[in-house]
Amino acid sequence: MKPIILLSLTMAIGSSCTKAPDKGSPEHIQQVTSTIDGSRIMQADANQGDWLSYGRNYSEDRFSTLDQIDASNVADLGLVWSYNLGTKRGVEATPLVVDGIMYLSGPWSKVFALDVRKGTLIWEFDPKVPGAYGEKACCDVVNRGVALYKGLVFIGTIDGRLIALDAVTGEVKWEELTIDRTYPYTITQAPRVVEGKVIIGNSGAEYGVRGYFSAYDALTGEMAWRFYTVPGDPSLPFETPDVEAAAKTWNGEWWKYGGGGTVWDAMAYDPELKLLYIGTGNGSPWNRELRSPGGGDNLYLSSILAVNPDDGSLAWYYQTTPGESWDFTATQHIILADLEIEGKKRKVLMQAPKNGFFYVLDRESGELISADKYVYVNWAEKVDLETGRPIETSFARYVDVNARLAPNYDGGHNWMPMAFNPNTGLVYIPATHTSSFYGQLPNWEFNKTGFAWPLGWNPGIGNEPANPRRDDPLAPKEPKGELIAWDPVAKRKVWGVDYPTQFNGGVLSTPELIFQANAEGIFRAYLATTGEEIWKFEFDAGVLAPPLTYLVDGVQYITIAVGWGGGFGKNSVVAKAMHPGTVYTFALGGSTPKPDYPDARRNVPIDLPVTATPEELAEAAGLYVNYCHLCHGGVGSGDGPIPDLAFSTEETHNMYRDIVLGGVFLEKGMPKFDGRLTEEQAELIHQHILASARKGS
Ligand code: CA
Repeated sequence: MKPIILLSLTMAIGSSCTKAPDKGSPEHIQQVTSTIDGSRIMQADANQGDWLSYGRNYSEDRFSTLDQIDASNVADLGLVWSYNLGTKRGVEATPLVVDGIMYLSGPWSKVFALDVRKGTLIWEFDPKVPGAYGEKACCDVVNRGVALYKGLVFIGTIDGRLIALDAVTGEVKWEELTIDRTYPYTITQAPRVVEGKVIIGNSGAEYGVRGYFSAYDALTGEMAWRFYTVPGDPSLPFETPDVEAAAKTWNGEWWKYGGGGTVWDAMAYDPELKLLYIGTGNGSPWNRELRSPGGGDNLYLSSILAVNPDDGSLAWYYQTTPGESWDFTATQHIILADLEIEGKKRKVLMQAPKNGFFYVLDRESGELISADKYVYVNWAEKVDLETGRPIETSFARYVDVNARLAPNYDGGHNWMPMAFNPNTGLVYIPATHTSSFYGQLPNWEFNKTGFAWPLGWNPGIGNEPANPRRDDPLAPKEPKGELIAWDPVAKRKVWGVDYPTQFNGGVLSTPELIFQANAEGIFRAYLATTGEEIWKFEFDAGVLAPPLTYLVDGVQYITIAVGWGGGFGKNSVVAKAMHPGTVYTFALGGSTPKPDYPDARRNVPIDLPVTATPEELAEAAGLYVNYCHLCHGGVGSGDGPIPDLAFSTEETHNMYRDIVLGGVFLEKGMPKFDGRLTEEQAELIHQHILASARKGS
């Protein structure tokens, strides 16, 4: 009898012990994060409450079926809390949420764990990226997000590390250096976890690197495989048969310039086909005439790759821009969906890369189904559906002409995520209308540590004075943005909403609604069917990141990480003010007031004596463009996340030499120019800043 009594007693104690832990407690976080694995991400559509991976599911559709917030009540959507990330640099992250525990990344690759129920910090992780890495990031020290797997949080850092953190405590579990630090690689991309492996690429093709992406065992950090997207030096053994095949499409000595093809954003996964889809970046340098004289498609630049996640072998590829020469990356958001096209159900992959064509591919075979202009395009007439290749215009390669080309290097669509709503059948594209002149750059020399154009960039384009100039009256002269609702089956725009500035935030779709915030800091909800605006909320800072939605204790929330910056915004502000990066969370009936931030911009130009002669100032202006403009923008053009030097204080000007040559602000990301600028050059630049601030130019 005795053992039975003991047993029932144990059961009673046992059941009281298995009472659910308090939400937000370490036990709770352990419980809800330790069970996240590939099958749970595969079940994302059956469990809409959480947001477990960057694009919400492996299809990366950014569509949530949650419908507590709908067209009838979205007017009651209000703020419930905000959390200050404590930094002024750009915020691009999509937070992940599991049962009310939120993980997101901020500038300088910091990671934050927040308790959605309270709007408070659980832990913060700072990878302590050296400030000197700031100048290697073409497009600000941003980060787009983390990945979750079996109690671990993964972050790729600006200085090229992949780090696994304990989801409960934020402690480092493993850390791997994924790059050769003698080259200007950085990471801004959100990792994805596929078949137990963390997939991560990198950035740097503007400066001159060789692109690749790698798979690491999620639990141990051991590298499983690496896929090089462009061939290296052909006198050395090729790493894989795929890169050996690619080498046949290159000429000249491309490997000396890196070649490019960096993988810095898009991934998607089809677990049934067991194919990992990756978008690759532009050539390095951009200009194929310099990179691969004699031509060639230059595989696998600007391509969509379908890869076996077990060994990194290539199943198929589709190159959107053969012989890439314009910074037309195909790293843009990839969405997988099942569409009925000409009466047949097709498993498709969709992308709106920079080159201005919206692509629909069969994701099993890689066959091109359609490619249509979603913005004004003049570099190609069309894409030939038989060959899958663009029909380029006569001036597209700017060899004998300085040509205005559309879109430009900013693209018809940049990294900001789209969304696909299976109910409306529409893809919502945060598009941009752009054009720029492209021409040859006489006397271009590649210098991986120098300043070919500006601050280490090596695009290899310019203006050849001997060539005629070809403008295009139809090309958009002033860049602007548009939210485009695109029908991928009918291959046409259904509706659009114009924005005054080219770069705006990413997109979220729910059954009835589209959510997007813009550069002006206005967060709107639109009807998915018509684009009618039915709700808005004004932030005091511009927005780049996409919103997300999830349930906590049965209540639907919407979160968006706000913080202006990035490649376009790092030296300007479009919104009415600027404040530190902040996470905002909304729910129906929310009535918390916005945080009362002072405007972080300054607007009183410095007025100190200028001693340089007009001739010296002319030289100084050129030095400023080469060394300062890319980050600080024009002197007096407006204070942004990276300061406009017109508004520096007298105290800062007194420190000028120590800042520029001595590196006293290195940890803030201000490079040290000792050895790159002479004392005289540095002083000339100072004179240019003072003279321009005075003029108010
Ligand atoms: Ca680029």
